[in-house]
Amino acid sequence: MQYDRAQVKITFACYEFDMTLPFIDLAAQQRRLRPQLDAAIAVVLDHGAYVMGPEVAAFEQALAAFCGAKLALSCANGTDALALPLMAWDVGLGDAVFCPSFSFTATAEIMPWTGAAPVFVDIRPDTYTLDPAALENAIRAIKAEGKLRPRAIIAVDLFGQSADYPAIAAIARAHDLKLIADSAQGFGCTLNGRHPIHWADAVTTSFFPAKPLGAYGDGGAVLTNNAALWERMDSLRIHGKATPADLAGQTFAHEAKYLSARVGMNSRLDTLQAAILLVKLSVFAKEIALRGAVADRYAHGLKGCVAVPPKVIQGGVSTWAQYTIEHSNRDGLAAHLKTLGIPTAAYYPVPLHQQTCYADYPAPGGLPVTEAAAARVLSLPMHPDLDEETQDRIIQAVRAFNG
Ligand SMILES: *Cc1c(COP(=O)(O)O)cnc(C)c1O
Repeated sequence: MQYDRAQVKITFACYEFDMTLPFIDLAAQQRRLRPQLDAAIAVVLDHGAYVMGPEVAAFEQALAAFCGAKLALSCANGTDALALPLMAWDVGLGDAVFCPSFSFTATAEIMPWTGAAPVFVDIRPDTYTLDPAALENAIRAIKAEGKLRPRAIIAVDLFGQSADYPAIAAIARAHDLKLIADSAQGFGCTLNGRHPIHWADAVTTSFFPAKPLGAYGDGGAVLTNNAALWERMDSLRIHGKATPADLAGQTFAHEAKYLSARVGMNSRLDTLQAAILLVKLSVFAKEIALRGAVADRYAHGLKGCVAVPPKVIQGGVSTWAQYTIEHSNRDGLAAHLKTLGIPTAAYYPVPLHQQTCYADYPAPGGLPVTEAAAARVLSLPMHPDLDEETQDRIIQAVRAFNG
């Protein structure tokens, strides 16, 4: 078997070979792209516009074009990307925002920032994304209780696949709620050939290095087809600077950023990250296809195994941010794989509604599917550069576990 030297740690003291392979091999991707990355970084160092330089607008255009959105607004990270539309819509005290509990904490942490309450909703057992029937029930329960005002839904494209947007968008319309697609893991995914922006008022993503489209640091973006929303979020990401609409009928002789039209924040994507992301976006479609091929090999190799391979929604194309299997002895399987140098991760071991900091927020009717999934899920190494030999080693190791 061939091992990349960078991935093999040799402990000479005890003559032990630690052949732990990477969970996500960002180094392999960098080897493919290094000359273009070096050139793109050098351009930024030469022009020196480190904040809101020309690469930022160029990247926003390319990002919007990639998924058929009219507009993209970059920002500092995927969490701010979720906060920006909520702030732009004046979501705040007394408002309810419905979201899955089976997600990364960022999906829910932005509601309390604005004074709003996350309302946790159960997921579908097959795809782990928001369950439309549970969503409808949760909205009705919150309305019947009469304490919180329903304002928005955040659906999550968990592990890379599209949530059930046709059903979720119909519910959003029926209850007059805004719909955000948290596509931090799923940017680039489609359902029936369409990107989530087809259904959502705003799609958000993260460029955290380990996400399918990752930078070399933090970054995020919001996609929208609504120019007024874009303009308001542009103001919010730059300290609430006056927008052209704010300035209409006024004369202000100075830079718009010195007229504060609202309380905003500082949430910009660095020019260097935009330059890096332009290079990575140029190969992203190819990488999604490579991830799909890796997922197909896993599905084939794990056929008939007690570990349950993941399911993609009918008509969906996943970006495979994670390849997540289920096993009744998840922790035993993880320990077994670890002894063989195969890293795994449990996303997510504690659902949000069971975290202490969210304990006071509603989870109407309980979340049995979420709790069952949290105890069973295990993500295997997944990245576009996972070679067949290494993958066979992982598949054989999973199949060999009989705990
Ligand atoms: C990573 C992630 C985020 C947050 O992105 P950051 O860039 O780390 O702030 C939000 N939602 C989900 C589902 C994520 O996986």
